[in-house]
Amino acid sequence: MEYFPYEPRETQREIVSFIDGTVSSGKHAVIESGTGTGKTICSLAGTLPFSKAHGKRILYLTRTKSQQKQIIEELRRISADNEVFGIAIQGRSVSTCPMMASDPELKYGTAEELSKLCSHLKKKGADGRCGCPYFEAMSDVDPEQYVKSIRAEMPDPETFQKRCASDGYCPYEMSKACLPFADVVAAPYTFIVVPAIRKHLLDWMNVPLEDLVVVVDEAHNLPDFLRDSCTSEYFLHSLDYVEKESDDNSKPEVADGIAVSDVVAAMRKCFSEAALEYLMDSDGLIPYGFLEECLMSELCMTSYQIQGMSKNMIELGETIKERKKERRKLPRSYIGNLGAFIEFWMNCDDVTYVRLIDGGPDPSFEAYCMDPYEAAAPFRDCFSSIHMSGTLDPLEQYKKELGLIKCENRVFPSPFDPDNLLTLYASDVTTRHKDLQIDPDNIGRIKDHIIEIVNGTGRNTAVFFPSYEMMDRFIANGTADALDGQVFSERRGMSQGELMETVDEFRSSTGGILFAVTGGRVSEGIDFPSRDLELAIIVGLPYPRPSFKKEALIRYFDRRFSNGWEAVVKTPMVRKMRQARGRLIRSETDRGAAIILDNRVTQIYGFGAIPTKDAVSDINGFFDELLTPSDLAIRRQML
Ligand code: SF4
Repeated sequence: MEYFPYEPRETQREIVSFIDGTVSSGKHAVIESGTGTGKTICSLAGTLPFSKAHGKRILYLTRTKSQQKQIIEELRRISADNEVFGIAIQGRSVSTCPMMASDPELKYGTAEELSKLCSHLKKKGADGRCGCPYFEAMSDVDPEQYVKSIRAEMPDPETFQKRCASDGYCPYEMSKACLPFADVVAAPYTFIVVPAIRKHLLDWMNVPLEDLVVVVDEAHNLPDFLRDSCTSEYFLHSLDYVEKESDDNSKPEVADGIAVSDVVAAMRKCFSEAALEYLMDSDGLIPYGFLEECLMSELCMTSYQIQGMSKNMIELGETIKERKKERRKLPRSYIGNLGAFIEFWMNCDDVTYVRLIDGGPDPSFEAYCMDPYEAAAPFRDCFSSIHMSGTLDPLEQYKKELGLIKCENRVFPSPFDPDNLLTLYASDVTTRHKDLQIDPDNIGRIKDHIIEIVNGTGRNTAVFFPSYEMMDRFIANGTADALDGQVFSERRGMSQGELMETVDEFRSSTGGILFAVTGGRVSEGIDFPSRDLELAIIVGLPYPRPSFKKEALIRYFDRRFSNGWEAVVKTPMVRKMRQARGRLIRSETDRGAAIILDNRVTQIYGFGAIPTKDAVSDINGFFDELLTPSDLAIRRQML
């Protein structure tokens, strides 16, 4: 426990030793580790000994900036007794690129567009100076000396960025320059998943992939992240921008006698035909050759000519981007993007991809990647990878999806007293679609339960709904208005800043109520220690909405692993439930009660929910420690 800066619990010794053993033998590990096991400190203390002794480097992948901050804080504690240095890297954003902060248009650039503009600004002009003063200033700094100056302090990402900016340096470039000196680099998933960014990262770190130890935090998100990274989607409204760009560039031709506006008109036709033929509810499956054939027929071209046309559009897009860069504008081309989408759609296979039209106010074509195997290659090819989450079960499934061989699995339960958590359910309600149709009073009964429980307990309460639509339904039917405390809500499309402001107001309230979505940002990524949150009401089971995309994924899993429904529908639903309930207990002394307003919860093996006829007195009794020994015995039995 050389790198463990606290008095370890027994479970923590086991986790550290398991990770150390895995890394030392160059294997991979898939670990479910319950709340309170100290995933961050254990994975650092487990990966550092072998890595430091054998010249390996650690890449710690996270989803959130707050998790990056936690990694650096733990490293700072470790460094009190050990020679260790770590740094976080984030993509270009307002906080890492001061040039971007001064130009609002740049805030909406993709990583690739910002990278191109940045490269352009870094080039020296005729006067021998480069276009970015923050980069120019860095020519006077020796990164090794800079690392020495911050080593003892080991600033968290925000402090580091502020310090660089106030010294007149580019925070993004400075963090890059510090990477070769770091034992641990904290980065978003994208940095290893996207091939072009991965190549740069390894160059900046000065390490080959084979010498990298990768830690994946909140790993249950990784398979979907990998699928999305290989997926391509094109929205109908983007065609308006293509048309405008075409007008701004003198209506160029992209094939013999075919102008960009002809391609736009053909795409619009394909959208409306696909919607008419294939869109059933929220989406619809599109046959493999549909878009190609539709474009061929609309533009009177062969398949070969369409391929050539899309290449021409991509090339034209590159020219437009170059011109924009010269004018210090975001190097984006809508014509190029459309060409790239058509090319991608026509060339992706029909085994791992499914082609869809998605409905809604802005329909889209989507080439959805069902198999994360290809994108998971860096996790297989690195020296060792450690995948951790509080909700990763079933571990074998995860291992198979990513194709991890030489891989060990382990589950480490939470060390917290299970008696600190009470889980109840109401047996007279459900949000099952069929039952809502047969018995619409279900909604009224759920409303009554929420009002009765919230007003009868008066504790800080989160009400988790299975979807935003369902949340809106309960706001519209007067549930929120009937509650005694102040109601806060997580809204669709909220920025991270707005969300945190809402959460902070809720935390500091007394008897406040937070409406949120199971599987949303509140239920998966935010800690509510102590009495910030004592009661969670979970309305319904968050089964994914049926769609053709889900059906295609189920068929795909059935073909590969014979467990489509289990893997695509049930497991994600159970994970969301466990994550939402998990908000209640964040420390040894926390106590919390959850009530599930859906009788189907009995179908979740090991969830430990007990039926209640009087939720208010059961919850108040639990907090007042008035539960009878026989109630306690039943609950223990069910957990
Ligand atoms: S060098 Fe830094 S500040 Fe300058 S454009 Fe690039 S990221 Fe922005």
